[in-house]
Formats: sequence, C-alpha cells, structure tokens
Amino acid sequence: MEKGTFLQLTQAQLDSCVTCGLCLPHCPTFRLTGDEVASPRGRIAAMGAVAAGDAVVDETYAGILGYCLQCRACEAVCPSLVPFGAMMESARASLAEERPTTTGRLRRILVGRVLNMKWLLALLTSGIALLQKVGLTRLFPGRLRTGRGLRRQRVFPHTAMGIHEYAPAAPVGKIALLAGCVMDQWFQDVHEATIGVLQIAGYSVDVPEGQQCCGALAAHEGAADSARRMADRNVAAFSGYDFVVADAAGCSAHLKEYDVWATDGEDMARRTCDITELVAELLETGRLPTFAPGRGLVAVHDPCHLRHAQRILSAPRDIVRAAGYEPVEIDPDGLCCGAAGVYMINEPAAAHELGERKAEQIRSAGPSLVVSANPGCEIQLRSHLGKRYRVLHPVELYWGVLIADR
Ligand code: SF4
Ligand code: SF4
Repeated sequence: MEKGTFLQLTQAQLDSCVTCGLCLPHCPTFRLTGDEVASPRGRIAAMGAVAAGDAVVDETYAGILGYCLQCRACEAVCPSLVPFGAMMESARASLAEERPTTTGRLRRILVGRVLNMKWLLALLTSGIALLQKVGLTRLFPGRLRTGRGLRRQRVFPHTAMGIHEYAPAAPVGKIALLAGCVMDQWFQDVHEATIGVLQIAGYSVDVPEGQQCCGALAAHEGAADSARRMADRNVAAFSGYDFVVADAAGCSAHLKEYDVWATDGEDMARRTCDITELVAELLETGRLPTFAPGRGLVAVHDPCHLRHAQRILSAPRDIVRAAGYEPVEIDPDGLCCGAAGVYMINEPAAAHELGERKAEQIRSAGPSLVVSANPGCEIQLRSHLGKRYRVLHPVELYWGVLIADR
C-alpha cells in the first residue's frame, strides 16, 4: 500500500471489491447473524454509499462499522486483495471526525492516552489485582476475574524485566522488545520468556526507553492522530536495532504497518518480527534446541492478527513441537475468539457468543493446555474456559521446557 493512503478511503479501494461473496463464510459476524450488513461485502457497500453521498453518517452506519471485529479474516481470503483492514481503519477515523459521540470520545481517550500513561495503567492494574486478591472480583466483568491481573505486576521500564542471566557475552545481533501497554502490566512472564529465549539464541535484548503503546487499539478505534503520534515516537525509540520484536500478535501486526502510520516508518516496519516467526526461524536454523516429543497435547489458538493480518500459521505449531508437545487444531477457519481489542467492551454480546463458540471448540479438541500469541485472546479464552484450562503464549511454553533443561 502506498504511503498516505492508509487513512483515506479511496475509490480504488472501494472498487476493488467485486462483490463475489467469497469472504462471507469466513466472517465471524456474518456467521453469527447471516446478515449482509454484518458481512465484509455489506460493510464495503455501506462505506461506498457514504463516500458517494448516497447515505449519511448516522447511527446505523456507526453500528455497521462498530460491529466489525477488524479480524481481517475477510482480507486473508479475498481473491481481489481488498485491503479491508486499512479501509475499516480509514472509515472509523472519518466516522470519529464526522460523528463524534461521548462514548466514542471516551474510548479514544482510553486507547489514545490512558494506555500510554504507565503510572495510571499501573495504578489501575494494582487496584484490580488488590480487589482480586481480597476476593472482590465480583465487582468486575467475568473476563477480569480470570485475567492475569492477579499476577504481581512490576514497574516499567526494563529494570525488572531484563533477564541478564542469559545475556550473551558476544551477541550475534541487537534486538529491541516492544513492552506494550497491557502486555507490560499483565503479561510480563511472556516478556521474560521472550527475552530469555532470544538471549539463549545469542541476541542482546533491550527494552528501549521512550517507547510507547504501539497504537493498534487507537488505530482500530479511529483515533488516528494518537496512533500516528505513537508510531512516530516509537520509530525514534527503536532506531539502531537489527530487529524490533513484539510478543503480542496485535502489536507486531501494527508495527509492520508503520510504513503508513509513521512519518518515516518504512525501516522499522521492515525490521519488525512477531516473536513466534523469529523463534520458529531460530529453531529451523538450529540456533535454538528442540526437545523430544511425548510431553502431551496442546490446543493451538490462532490470534487473528497473527493468522489473518500477518499470515503466520506454522510458527506457533513449530514452537509447540520444538517444546516436545503435539499441537492440536481447534478451528480450521481460524474464526475470531471475540476479544478483538476493545470489542469485548464495545460489543459484549457478540464477543461473548464468539468466546463461547471458541471455548467449545477447545473443549471438543481435548487438551487442557492452550497456546495463544496475543494477550486479548488469552484473557478471552481464560474467561470462557475457566480454571481447569491453562493458556500460555507459545514462547512461554517453549521457555518453560528450555529453562527446565538447563
Ligand atoms: S471483499 Fe473480496 S471476497 Fe469479499 S466480496 Fe469483496 S471481492 Fe469478494
Ligand atoms: S474484519 Fe472480520 S468481522 Fe470485519 S468484515 Fe472482515 S471478517 Fe468480518
């Protein structure tokens, strides 16, 4: 995609949809409702009608856009290569400008500002953790009762996160890790696994200061200015490294699109890897060890922003196998689990139904151990599966075996 076209819905983008309908069975909201306006084709038609002046930007249009999960399953199967994700982000940015609402503003403040206020996020997380500890979890929505807020959170930046124990004396390369917003507060075990695995593979790993939330949630919510600002600051913070690594699929997918979000983001977009693809490559080239099979079965959940947005499918399975486990498929279509960033908050009924369907697929598959490479999915899965199930990042699973072997 050309620079500058990301936030401007173009006629060429709209015309690229030939209305074939091949995407419809892959769209979770169409599968839920059977309704054309809840399908990719219907949403593109609605965007086209507004662009042509045949429809107005009203509550109905806002509802049509808002019900989309932005999972990009449609994009992955579209024979006409319709850039649906970019189109939806453009349409939502225009909607936010043309029809500002109080709840929309509050959501954009949350994803555009609060997520970057580490102290406030830490305070909120501590409050949640405390209430969870004293048994007042009934005050929260179900998903927070089983989330990782229970865990002792540590303070940003990297003083507590760096595992210096495995830092190589003569690194083969320099990697910068994106700390992220929610990841930084609730998923530091995943960061530790990521840092440890990369160090054992011979890399030095930094968590550069001055970095911000990647801006994915802001982009999805139509807070385009905030998303651009975060992208520009991250480009400055992450310069000078061989790779920029994110261990949340939603973040790595967004960093790879900095060529259109940041002023000079092409180089950073090129240097970005999701941790799963990098670890899979390190396993393939023998830079990381593999372990004998026979440890058991693991259900593999594909986050949409890994499978559909980045087209990474084999890497999590390769990592599971390398750890000595057998990956078990749960959903050939890779439908969204319903987490989808703040979709859980915006559209709770659809999010709940999709979460239940995904949980049922996992229960039917058998294993009580599940891997998922994205924090939102993990929270959603934990919430719907209950305590009998364990959900880990695939690299966390591998790290557990690797560290036990040393
Ligand atoms: S988005 Fe792609 S797959 Fe879906 S109707 Fe349009 S051209 Fe067909
Ligand atoms: S992004 Fe997902 S929910 Fe939205 S139209 Fe495409 S497949 Fe459907």
